[in-house]
Amino acid sequence: MTVLDTDPLQRHNGHVALDGSSDGSASVSLNGHRPVLVLNQNYEPLHVATVRRALVLWLAGKAEILETYEHDVASTHQRFPAPSVIRLFTLVKRPPVRVRLTRREVFVRDNYTCQYCGVRTHDLTIDHVIPRSRGGPHTWENVVSACRACNHRKGGKSLAEARMQLLRQPFEPRPGRYYVVERLLRTPVHESWLKFLPDLDVTRRRSR
Ligand SMILES: [Zn+2]
Repeated sequence: MTVLDTDPLQRHNGHVALDGSSDGSASVSLNGHRPVLVLNQNYEPLHVATVRRALVLWLAGKAEILETYEHDVASTHQRFPAPSVIRLFTLVKRPPVRVRLTRREVFVRDNYTCQYCGVRTHDLTIDHVIPRSRGGPHTWENVVSACRACNHRKGGKSLAEARMQLLRQPFEPRPGRYYVVERLLRTPVHESWLKFLPDLDVTRRRSR
């Protein structure tokens, strides 16, 4: 059981502060580091939140609790189930998500395959097709996964100079269905989440 040191039902000036910080009750401390899956009104995974924030949304009538953890959360007057999955009552529109350009995401895009010789390995480097020393940008269209041997061979040369070819033209990947949720997750997915994340590739997450 987790204890709230402030009653979240207390309303200040007639409204609940959604982030718990705009009034004197900011110090609601939950040791609940357990993540809560937040679903959009249409059940699409939207976000990952803390138990505290999920409870505040629920108490404010903005969300329903679909799944709970085994333990309870207590305030001074009441006990609440600790939510593990909540769903918002209103549809949140969000701007299109873009995949962040990181080494790992480049390797995932290239399926852990050297884009020059085709070897599949986890011992990869990032190669700039037009070398940075020649003004090549650090963009999705100019970075590829390369094994160490190919990266060494290409060095600071252009493709033509190095007499090398790419397996395919590099591109900006589209975010996977659960990109946002995956990116925010620091812990394994709780089993109560799985029915809302059909086809979630847990193995891919773990292998990265
Ligand atoms: Zn190679």
